[in-house]
Amino acid sequence: MFPEKLLSLADECERDCAVQFARIADISRFNTERVMEAFSSNRISERHFTPTSGYGYNDEGREACEKLYADIFGTESALVRHSILNGTHALTIGLFGLLRTGDTLLSVTGKPYDTLDGVIGISGAPGNGSLIDYGIKYRQIELTAESRVDLRAVREALAEDDSIKVVYLQRSKGYASRRTLTVAEINEVTSLVHSCSNAFVMVDNCYGAFTEKAEPEADLLVGSLIKNAGGGIAESGAYLVGTEKAVEYASYRYSAVGIGGEAGATLGQTKSIIKGLFFAPHVVGEALKTAVFAASLFGRLGFDVFPSYDEPRSDIIQTLIFGSADALIKFCRGIQSGSPIDSYVAPVPWAMPGYDDEVIMAAGAFTQGSSIELSADGPLRPPYTAYMQGGLTFESGRYCILKAAQLITE
Ligand SMILES: *Cc1c(COP(=O)(O)O)cnc(C)c1O
Repeated sequence: MFPEKLLSLADECERDCAVQFARIADISRFNTERVMEAFSSNRISERHFTPTSGYGYNDEGREACEKLYADIFGTESALVRHSILNGTHALTIGLFGLLRTGDTLLSVTGKPYDTLDGVIGISGAPGNGSLIDYGIKYRQIELTAESRVDLRAVREALAEDDSIKVVYLQRSKGYASRRTLTVAEINEVTSLVHSCSNAFVMVDNCYGAFTEKAEPEADLLVGSLIKNAGGGIAESGAYLVGTEKAVEYASYRYSAVGIGGEAGATLGQTKSIIKGLFFAPHVVGEALKTAVFAASLFGRLGFDVFPSYDEPRSDIIQTLIFGSADALIKFCRGIQSGSPIDSYVAPVPWAMPGYDDEVIMAAGAFTQGSSIELSADGPLRPPYTAYMQGGLTFESGRYCILKAAQLITE
């Protein structure tokens, strides 16, 4: 099916990746044990999958699912709902839940993910209900040249400004050209903040869950269920986990003050959320292996890749720098042609609203927009970078990457 030369290159790459693959297997095994123990101690059973309707009061499955999340993420409390649209919505709930007029939001990992610009009020029309419209101030501290949190600047900001109520970190590099923060680095910031202020620490954990043996320590940790934690099974939703107080405030913003997480019909979604959590440590491992393999193969083909195949990871994103529009387009077409869904579609660059350059995207997923399923995209501007993530099984991820490599090299 693939040319002999490409297959033998792939074999060499897999040999190169053996050390990282073993490391990933160890993390998946460890995290699976944590998940299994939580399932057992919470006595998960079939009755938890029963749908509720209407108000959704006393939904045992929803409560068990949130207890599972709290136990697995090592937090006091959790809000996990299929009705939260996506990661941006969940982060919005967290920010508006914790911040009040006169407070300051301090981002310590530079500018947050693009979709939050309008939420914070960095962009968009004044008066549309952003944090800034509500009299919440916004400050940010840039990462250092080595993509590390500037601890000294954080300490100074907290000492001089007691209006700082939320210190915000984004774990994954997202679509920026920086390093991804490790759990240990985030924990260092959390300890620092807690040692010298009463501010909440909030972490955008999107793309990070289950890539290491522990999750970051924070007052509020937020992620999407159509990324890592949903295991490719959850159909929609997001999680917010953290301290009793922070999750309670967030839950009041999610529904209504006084109601919080006590209501919310699950409409039959609980089984896929719980089943997805069961799969998540394994599926995240498959996505990590797919990323490592892509780094190795495209590295050998002469492209710049970041991180390299032999580096430890704290998210599932692989950056590949193609150097020409032609190679970037071929890469995305190859990924699309290897996808289980819509393999016959040829992606073309398009002027996506909110972006200065045309963007090309490849996604052939069972769940629309799911990026724990293999997907790739990149803006059509030098140096023609693709951001690739996901892969429900390593075998299908490897297949997709070989399709892309074949198209680029033929
Ligand atoms: C995906 C992502 C988000 C949220 O994006 P949605 O598409 O709204 O789910 C936020 N931050 C980071 C780092 C992400 O990767």
